[in-house]
Amino acid sequence: MRPLDRQTRSHLMHLFQTHGFHPRTDLGQNFLIDLNIIDFVVRQADLGPQDVVLEIGAGTGGMTTFLAHEAAAVVSVEIDRRMHGLASEALAGSGCKNVTLLNCDALKNKNRFAVEVVDAIEQQLAAEPQRRLKLVANLPYCIATPVISNLVATEWPWVLMVATIQWELAERMRAAPGTHDYGSLSVWLQSQCAVSLLKKLGPTVFWPRPNVESAVVRLAPDSERRGAIADRQFFHDFIRRLFHQRRKAARNVLTGMYRKQLSKPAIDDVLQGFALKPGFRAEDCDVATLVRLADGLHKAMGPLIGLAGEDANDDANSGIEGLDCRMTD
Ligand code: SAH
Repeated sequence: MRPLDRQTRSHLMHLFQTHGFHPRTDLGQNFLIDLNIIDFVVRQADLGPQDVVLEIGAGTGGMTTFLAHEAAAVVSVEIDRRMHGLASEALAGSGCKNVTLLNCDALKNKNRFAVEVVDAIEQQLAAEPQRRLKLVANLPYCIATPVISNLVATEWPWVLMVATIQWELAERMRAAPGTHDYGSLSVWLQSQCAVSLLKKLGPTVFWPRPNVESAVVRLAPDSERRGAIADRQFFHDFIRRLFHQRRKAARNVLTGMYRKQLSKPAIDDVLQGFALKPGFRAEDCDVATLVRLADGLHKAMGPLIGLAGEDANDDANSGIEGLDCRMTD
């Protein structure tokens, strides 16, 4: 049986009319109405009986049932109570029993998933030893950056992400050093994953149509690249803060960032090991250089490393920069 063969434009319009409400643009409610694309996303996820799927933005449950038919378990999160109601109905009708449908904001803050989400995922992963995690979703564009970068930061056994996101965000994820799009998100993701673009999507595959183009992207973790980073938490914080002042000379930025742990000469000592031009900026450095630079500073700090965390954790709402919501307006 093919679940929910009916997430079409007319079906959704009828559904909203019957329930007397409209999609909310502020929540990124643009539903996939092209069944070929839903099918494509699900096929690319290559789901099997070991897979726990995280879907963020259940919407009407249009994709959730497809995922549930192929995975061991699905944890699907929907912030909007009304949409959560519609998704629950769709799931009840499909007979899928392996879906945990949560009605909450998927994020606690820019750097953390909500506790409910963490608990549900960990419970599903613990159910059998071989279980592993995949993110498969038509993501709400407002939170695509924190969702993807936070998942990369976790220690969960995640093996794949296949997601629809805003086109510009896909460009930032894949950007090369020295380009306009290259930033903390590019470095954070490329330092640990293979990022690939699977498909470009025009606005017509969604209802209502967004004002932007979209992309289906695939991220796969690269254990070698991950293993090359001495302290991923430190590296995360390092690039977030360094790129916050991307146009400034990186030496000055670093001196400010680590004023409590390292003197200027100590920072220069670390920098000396790199063939960097005087006045170089973060945006000029490739990913491998940034990884080695962070590791060098980390090592030089020795036991003072704990103090770096004090600064790092002072703003739970400042995450890796990607795109903010205004771009989807
Ligand atoms: N997957 C569905 C819906 C995609 S639209 C489909 O393709 O048809 C994105 C959905 O994410 C919307 O239903 C929106 O309400 C929900 N959403 C937006 N912000 C969210 C958040 N912070 N946490 C969880 N869900 C969110």
